[in-house]
Order: sequence, then C-alpha cells, then structure tokens
Amino acid sequence: DYVIVNGNLIERSEARLDIEDRGYQFGDGVYEVIRVYNGKMFTAQEHLERIVLSAKKIGMELVYSVEDMKKQLTELIEKNEVKLGTIYMQISRGVSPRNHPYPNPVVPHTLVAYTKEVARPIPNLENGVKAILKEDIRWLLCDIKSLNLLGNVMAKQEAVAAGCYEAIQHRGDTVTEGSSSNISIIKDGKLITHHADNLILNGITRRKVLEVCGKGNIPVVEEPFTLSDLDAADEVFLSSTTSEITPIVEIAGKQVGNGQPGPVTKKIQALFDKEIEAECGS
Ligand code: PMP
Repeated sequence: DYVIVNGNLIERSEARLDIEDRGYQFGDGVYEVIRVYNGKMFTAQEHLERIVLSAKKIGMELVYSVEDMKKQLTELIEKNEVKLGTIYMQISRGVSPRNHPYPNPVVPHTLVAYTKEVARPIPNLENGVKAILKEDIRWLLCDIKSLNLLGNVMAKQEAVAAGCYEAIQHRGDTVTEGSSSNISIIKDGKLITHHADNLILNGITRRKVLEVCGKGNIPVVEEPFTLSDLDAADEVFLSSTTSEITPIVEIAGKQVGNGQPGPVTKKIQALFDKEIEAECGS
C-alpha cells in the first residue's frame, strides 16, 4: 500500500515521522475521513474545505489548496486501487523541539494520508444499533476537527464496553452529538438536529442529510433538543462518513419507537444513496 507524506506518494513501509511531531505530542493538528465509493471520493470538496477551515481555526495556514489536496488524494486512490473504502488524512503543525507555544518561525506542517478498504455497514443500516447516554465532557471547540479525541475515545469506549455502537453525548439536558457522529431525531415527521455551533462538529453527512430532507420534503429544525425530546422521539439516527445514516433503535436499554428503523430514517437513507450514486456512480 502507498501513503502520502508531505506531498510524496511512497510505500507505507518507507514512511518516517519524527518523534517530536506536534500531532503526536500535543494532538496539535486537524484531520478528515473521506469516503470512497466506486473508486471515487464522495463530498471531497466539502471535506477538504472543512480541513482548511479547521486548520485556520487553530492558526494554521495550509500551503496546499483544496485542488492540490484533491489531486494528491485522487492519485493515492488510483495507486492503491481502492474501490470501496476511506481515506484518512491529517495535518499537524509540524516538527519542533517540544514546547507548548506554536513554533516561531512557522515550520512545515506534516501531512499524512492513507487509504483503507471499508465495506458499507449494511447490517447496521438495515437493523439499527444501540447507544448509551453520556455526559459531554469535551472542550468547547467541538466544531474543529482536531486530533485531540480523548473525550470522544473515552465516550466510545464506554459505549463499546456496554455492548453498544455509539455514545449519545449531552451537556446537561441538551443533546449535542455522538462520539464520532451527529445525532438527529424524528418527531411527527419532522427532523430535529443540533444547529452547527461550537458544541458539535458540523458533519458533512449531517449537511447531506439536511440537503436531502429539502429534496424529500421532510421538514427540518436545526436547534438543540433535550434528553426528554430524545426519549419521546419516534426515530433516532446517527450520521457520519463511515457509518452513513445508521438508525439507533435502543438508547440506554430502552427501545426507540417499536425498536425497528423507522420510515423517515429509511427515506433519508434512500435519498442519501441517490446522492452517492449521483456523485460516484453505482
Ligand atoms: N461528530 C464527531 C465528533 C465526529 O467525529 C464525526 C465523524 N468524524 C461526525 C460528527 C460526523 O462527521 P462527518 O459526517 O463529516 O463524518
């Protein structure tokens, strides 16, 4: 397998990273996960614009343009002959003797990207998954897709330890998002999901969901909802690049609705599939 390190397409075994890379020592950097369907990237523009924005929010000006990165990632997919999978890419602030302040003068950022074959999560899409509830203890800049994922990792681990797929996080009474996904509920045919502010990552899949709801005449409300709204919801689903639109059928041991994926979620899944087909072919 080939990987990209700082603009070079090289064998994975040839990749070398410095032990004083700030991504490694401080989680000082940003990342993206992009889906590949049918050998083509899905919503690459949105992901790459988001990594530029995430970088900017932590004071990193990228030397690569969205177009440069798209070209590099396309070459990587072709070289590795990925048909169905994901690209992971991260950009750290670079290598510098360990010290908290940003290196001055600025050092070259470290860009790494690699691919992985990943199937679509068909059983989860069809049957749904279980979730736990978890107080959201993360910092207040969750809109940045940063490498600092310890809060998310610990939440996910708690879910997995409980035999569940995801942790639905809440700040007090307000539901924010999953540990690696956005959360939406359906009530009386209407979709409700937390608005994009500093408390959630504005997921690219979330944005696609809102877009297809527009096309499918499903009313949308982007505002915070509470734990009791969640409890009273007709349907609940999570959305993310790798998990797509996954129904949540049990929360904290209690069935959602009748415990089966609901009709509105299924409609959104079907509309989402059409978007994939339109951009990547079938
Ligand atoms: N929230 C968090 C905390 C995430 O880690 C992710 C997935 N990386 C998402 C939401 C969903 O984002 P996207 O749809 O862009 O994958």
